[in-house]
Amino acid sequence: MSPKLPIYLDHAATTPCDPRVVEAMLPYFTEKFGNPGSRNHSFGWEAEAGVDAARVQAARLIGANEKEIVFTSGATESNNLAIKGAAYMYERAPAGSGRSRGHIITNAIEHKAVLDPCKRLQREGFEVTFLPPGADGVITAEAVRAALREDTILVSIMWANNEIGTISEIPQIGALCHEKGVILHSDGTQWVGKMPTNVARDNVDLLSWSGHKIYGPKGIGALYVRRHKPRVRLNALADGGGQERGFRPGTLNVTGIVGLGKACEIAAAEMDRDAERLLRLRRKLEHAITSRLEVTKVNGHAEKRLPHISNISFGFVEGESLMMAIKEIACSSGSACTSASLEPSYVLKTLGVGDELAHSSLRLSLGRWTTEAQVEYAIENIVAAVEKLRRLSPLYDMHKEGIDLSKVEWAHH
Ligand SMILES: *Cc1c(COP(=O)(O)O)cnc(C)c1O
Repeated sequence: MSPKLPIYLDHAATTPCDPRVVEAMLPYFTEKFGNPGSRNHSFGWEAEAGVDAARVQAARLIGANEKEIVFTSGATESNNLAIKGAAYMYERAPAGSGRSRGHIITNAIEHKAVLDPCKRLQREGFEVTFLPPGADGVITAEAVRAALREDTILVSIMWANNEIGTISEIPQIGALCHEKGVILHSDGTQWVGKMPTNVARDNVDLLSWSGHKIYGPKGIGALYVRRHKPRVRLNALADGGGQERGFRPGTLNVTGIVGLGKACEIAAAEMDRDAERLLRLRRKLEHAITSRLEVTKVNGHAEKRLPHISNISFGFVEGESLMMAIKEIACSSGSACTSASLEPSYVLKTLGVGDELAHSSLRLSLGRWTTEAQVEYAIENIVAAVEKLRRLSPLYDMHKEGIDLSKVEWAHH
């Protein structure tokens, strides 16, 4: 039986809310609507109890203590608070002194929610190293070791990449940072809730994640802030009522927090099963596409990759035509819309994927309710679309005739 269309294969962009999460949230809109800061009545206590329980659920997912969890509006805010908050707290020289305020290491394929705060700090007088990953997309401890300096104050490396799913060597990078007395932040948005995480074992000091990437609601996230060995301090970015130990003031988003907590609890219980199932489906997808279509390439390291994200480049097809031809599959392309023009993905570009090939790349990301039938539909649809587009392509004809296109002299206009 063919699946209901369209098919959602864009779980790296956002996930549907788990119905169990919605159910847990509902009472907090209407009956338990109190402000957890209201200390004098049961409405406040009830709301506070909901927040306290969620804090324990979030902490358990990553092997932390509940006192180490700060609720935010999402991973973007968590990243900003971690990176700018640590930079301002641990700066080596004051702004305007003419000296470097301190050195920060990050990498070139981070999400914009890390790159942009780092670029702001650079403009403000911090020195930032943007490490290039290997061609396989993996950020190694060796690369970080080579970039560390005596004045390095912070390392921020994503746990897993959102476009290609590759996994960084976080435990090893963390061990290195601890040895050198440098703070390690990780953007764990694609990792936490999908793969086993333990901040003690994995040597992470600051860890960001988000509700809507783990079947929770949008607009809620968390930041883990280590309290022992070392005790990490942060400059708050906003001033207000002192909530969240002063790190993040403002009335708590109780419904969102309860939803995030429930999503974390479900993730902890079900991630092993989900990961195993999704890995099998992803392998089936990749194997079928690459064996049935020539000149296709799965981007990123073959093994060090999340179970549910697949990024595939298709030679000899035009990116926009490909997206048009697979309209019933909701996924992402290797192009990013910037105002008027289509830019090739900076992640694929950094990995050495050419502009043309980056445009004709697809990110297919599977999720908790992705079925075998949906994956089979996607395979047939994508294979048919690519074959059809290639039949129309003069370049593909030349390639079939054995002409080496890299040696063709192109006419210039
Ligand atoms: C989605 C995502 C973010 C942004 O998260 P929000 O909660 O939407 O702000 C940050 N980093 C990565 C790696 C992501 O995938």
